[in-house]
Amino acid sequence: MTPPRHAVIVGGGIAGIAAALRLAEAGWRPIILESRGKLGGRATSFVDPRSGRTLDNCQHVVMGCCTNLCDFYERLGVLDAIDWHTQTNWARGDGKFDTLSTARFLPAPLHSAIAFARLRMLSWSEKHHIGFAMWSMLRAGCSGRMRWHDRAFEVFLDWTQQSAHARKVFWEPIVVSACNASLAECNAAHAMQVFQEGFLASAWAGAMGVPSVPLRELYDGAQALIARAGGEIRVGESAKAITFDGTRATGVVTDAGFIEAHAVIAAVPPDRLEKLVSSTLRSKDQRLQQLDKFAWSPILGVHLFFPRVVMELSHVVLPGRATQWLFSKPSGATAGGQLVHAVISAADAWMELDEATIVARVLEDVRWALPAARGVEPIEARSVKEKHATFRSTPNVDALRPRASPHAGDLQGGVANLAIAGDWTDTGWPATMEGAVRSGYAAARAITQQGGVVEDLPIALLSRLCGLRRQ
Ligand SMILES: Cc1cc2nc3c(=O)[nH]c(=O)nc-3n(C[C@H](O)[C@H](O)[C@H](O)COP(=O)(O)OP(=O)(O)OC[C@H]3O[C@@H](n4cnc5c(N)ncnc54)[C@H](O)[C@@H]3O)c2cc1C
Repeated sequence: MTPPRHAVIVGGGIAGIAAALRLAEAGWRPIILESRGKLGGRATSFVDPRSGRTLDNCQHVVMGCCTNLCDFYERLGVLDAIDWHTQTNWARGDGKFDTLSTARFLPAPLHSAIAFARLRMLSWSEKHHIGFAMWSMLRAGCSGRMRWHDRAFEVFLDWTQQSAHARKVFWEPIVVSACNASLAECNAAHAMQVFQEGFLASAWAGAMGVPSVPLRELYDGAQALIARAGGEIRVGESAKAITFDGTRATGVVTDAGFIEAHAVIAAVPPDRLEKLVSSTLRSKDQRLQQLDKFAWSPILGVHLFFPRVVMELSHVVLPGRATQWLFSKPSGATAGGQLVHAVISAADAWMELDEATIVARVLEDVRWALPAARGVEPIEARSVKEKHATFRSTPNVDALRPRASPHAGDLQGGVANLAIAGDWTDTGWPATMEGAVRSGYAAARAITQQGGVVEDLPIALLSRLCGLRRQ
């Protein structure tokens, strides 16, 4: 029997873990190197030194259309730790809410039509124009969407004559939180994908999943699965360089020594990868040429510990406010109290603010939406700034995103046993956990020729008849 071949995976974020699971299944021995003391990368938890509590860096939301992420959670045995919601609550101020929900008896893409028609925050004329925009996205299908990749979503909103108010209360909360970019900046194809895949393709696609445990616990199962294949997870060990013999990647130099490998998967962000490759390696691989071209967009998460329950709903969208979402976090609350987590995406304007100012501004939004929070001071508040939350979803950005494996047709070829993973690679998805898992599965396939990305949810018949196709 031949001994298992081993692969070093640099980066223990979701992409790296996903790649390791699939390598292990294919009979390879994966070694994950993670420079931090824990797995999860940008989707993880930390122990707050002030309170000693385990907090998520930020709320992470999954949607029903995230088939690869659900598959990943299933492999890790934690799919049951995701709570699913088929209704979203949109605040209108002073404790009033609109709800966007799914009618079981109506097929997609009409499943939310009744709830949409009942939204009080929009006028009939605005609903008519939003309906036209949705129809246009249905008709465009995937290939039509790709024709918008060089423009901002705002151009599409201009074309479909959306009012300033509809942009503020409807389009902005969805696009900014899904793509982490403003309407004026967001790649139109990325924003359209959110509506096509999440709102129009099928009724379940738009369901929102929220972990009921700290993010970090979702990855606990990885250790046993990787160990069973003879692999290991080395946290607290940083890669310094990917070694290259002129043709193949031969291993990874770390701060603890050298690890020889039959294959290497780089599952780190592009600025980190750039530091790991020599100029010789870069010159041999087309995929490594544009690593310095990515820009980053920040997300701000604010944890507010209230001494009593101020929010009955599990989550609330705040249309037209600076804060986009509020979530009730059962796992972090003290007895009788409530942990409310506020999320602000595309948070450039917040990055230079101090914590007291941030908390004061967010509390204004919380009290606008939730009368029960008026006059109640949080016992504690903690803001977490993620300056490099995701790459900037700007027009034409997809041209920068490298494939997992080199393409036979590339002029400069590529290094066959070096795979690249991460939410910023060419996943066909915006920078999300779903994209990260897809990239990890694709990277493992590039090395093992087995497995790969799992299938999307099927598109509902009526949506298909209306023109929504993936090809
Ligand atoms: C605040 C915030 C909120 C978000 N909300 C959502 C959401 O609601 N839904 C959603 O789908 N996505 C969300 N995202 C995006 C999601 O977190 C990312 O898309 C995903 O986690 C990226 O995973 P990754 O494995 O590609 O990269 P990363 O998570 O960045 O993993 C890379 C890993 O490599 C490690 N590393 C770097 N250099 C080295 C080295 N030299 N040696 C060893 N290890 C190294 C890093 O420490 C890191 O752990 C959010 C992101 C942030 C920051």
